[in-house]
Amino acid sequence: MKKLLLLAALFCISQASAQTPNTNRPRLVVGIVVDQMRPDYIIRYWNKLGNAGFKRILKEGFNCRNTQYNYAPTYTGPGHASIYTGTTPSMHGIAGNDWFDVAANDTVYCASDEKVTAVGGEGREGMMSPSRLLTTTITDQLQLSTQMKAKVVGISLKDRGAILPAGRSADAAYWFDGKTGNWISSTWYMNSLPKWAQDFNERKWSEEYLSQPWKTVLPINYYTESDPDDSPYEALFRGETKPVFPHDLPALRGTSFDLLRRTPFGNTLTKDFGLAAILGEQMGADSITDFLCLSFSSTDYVGHQYGPNAIETEDTYIRLDRDMADLLTFLDNRIGKGKYLVYLTADHACMENPKHMMDHKIHAGFVPSAGIEDSLRSLLNRTYGHPEYIRCFINDQVYLHEDKILADKNDICAIEATIARYAKDHIQGVYLGLTSCDLETESYDDMIRQRIQNGHFHGRSGNVWLVYAPGWTERLYGGDGTQGTTHGSPYAYDAHVPLYWFGWNIPAGSSTDLVNITDIAPTLSFLLNITLPNGCTGNKIDALVK
Ligand code: ZN
Ligand code: ZN
Ligand code: ZN
Repeated sequence: MKKLLLLAALFCISQASAQTPNTNRPRLVVGIVVDQMRPDYIIRYWNKLGNAGFKRILKEGFNCRNTQYNYAPTYTGPGHASIYTGTTPSMHGIAGNDWFDVAANDTVYCASDEKVTAVGGEGREGMMSPSRLLTTTITDQLQLSTQMKAKVVGISLKDRGAILPAGRSADAAYWFDGKTGNWISSTWYMNSLPKWAQDFNERKWSEEYLSQPWKTVLPINYYTESDPDDSPYEALFRGETKPVFPHDLPALRGTSFDLLRRTPFGNTLTKDFGLAAILGEQMGADSITDFLCLSFSSTDYVGHQYGPNAIETEDTYIRLDRDMADLLTFLDNRIGKGKYLVYLTADHACMENPKHMMDHKIHAGFVPSAGIEDSLRSLLNRTYGHPEYIRCFINDQVYLHEDKILADKNDICAIEATIARYAKDHIQGVYLGLTSCDLETESYDDMIRQRIQNGHFHGRSGNVWLVYAPGWTERLYGGDGTQGTTHGSPYAYDAHVPLYWFGWNIPAGSSTDLVNITDIAPTLSFLLNITLPNGCTGNKIDALVK
């Protein structure tokens, strides 16, 4: 009997210890977004990479190989918001980079805010905040879980890439001012830049990076994973006659610093400012977990201009690999191996260049976008006598003047359906038209319709969504609109992105199980043992959280 009691007692103790929650947390989380990164790049460029950057992340960390965006439009603003809120635009409200906002009766930008002013700069570049973000981020939840004692900082060349990840309760977000070459912020966060940021700006790195030409970091004949340097699918820097190395940045830059965005040095500047923030803000220095949100934007600018098969794009990733190695080595030394958690993903990927596809007999094309608004106006003129019911066409969505339609006692849903049917039947390259009346009431079984529904936010999204066929788009970057690449669709080429985890409590391994982009934030909630973001619709990644 005694033995039995002893056994029962031991059993209880072991049960109790099994149920004791793990209260350990990493000292620092570094969330990395690589703007426009496709999952195939690292494999394609593998032999050109060093051992301390992407290769180290993949060898020591965990690779979620089948990570997908579960909504459209696959743009930068919605992408960053969804990674950090664990939900889709239908919930967090970041329905595009720009959208027509019914409440504001105007086209708005996802991060603009008339109520705040620039800090460290001046003008509209600084009038930015997360005020249009409607649900909490994982970074907000960390603040709430630590009585706001965690340090949360967002950094990106793009304001929206810094602001949306850091959340509304962030200590700071910093972005690049192309007029001055400085990192700036807004009065949403602070009244003046901290000394470390002022000191960084005073070093004039932007000036230095633009004072020399962009040459390939390896001999140019090593770039065998890309098309020849002078390819018809690449757009030009203004002032160049061929899209070839070396790119003479001092001659091309003009008086502003915006050109820096379009070179891999914009990423290096972002990394260096991130390291300065870790030092300046003492991030990861105590037992309260801090969170640094880094977003590398130059990959997107370079990608749009040159496309996925260009030496310029390959060189940008080879250089980014070196930036990653610098970052990890710095974190090892400053925070300590195993004491920090890193994850890396993308805010969307990108399409193959349609002209490149057509030249190889693959079905693809350009939707004749210039005529879409006009043809829909004449449709509404013919059927209702009211061409002015069409308000605008943004993000492949038709916005209607609902107030006028209601005043005329016409049926909004019927007009939407007329437009959707007409677009599908008469506009080349349109695969599907979806109406807001259907999106707000139906439930769908097929993935493409579900993705549109997840991206639809009433009052911010349009009345009719035009979904183009796979491989089709309106226009690409600059020039005649057929060069480089773009993104925004619900298809795998835009929606399939890398997701790597590395460091604190992350096992080595990989998985091809489907992971939605909205699963990142809840996985972080379980890893950090903090509450889920308040609009979270994702789920934890089983391989990482038992
Ligand atoms: Zn982007
Ligand atoms: Zn080129
Ligand atoms: Zn882009």
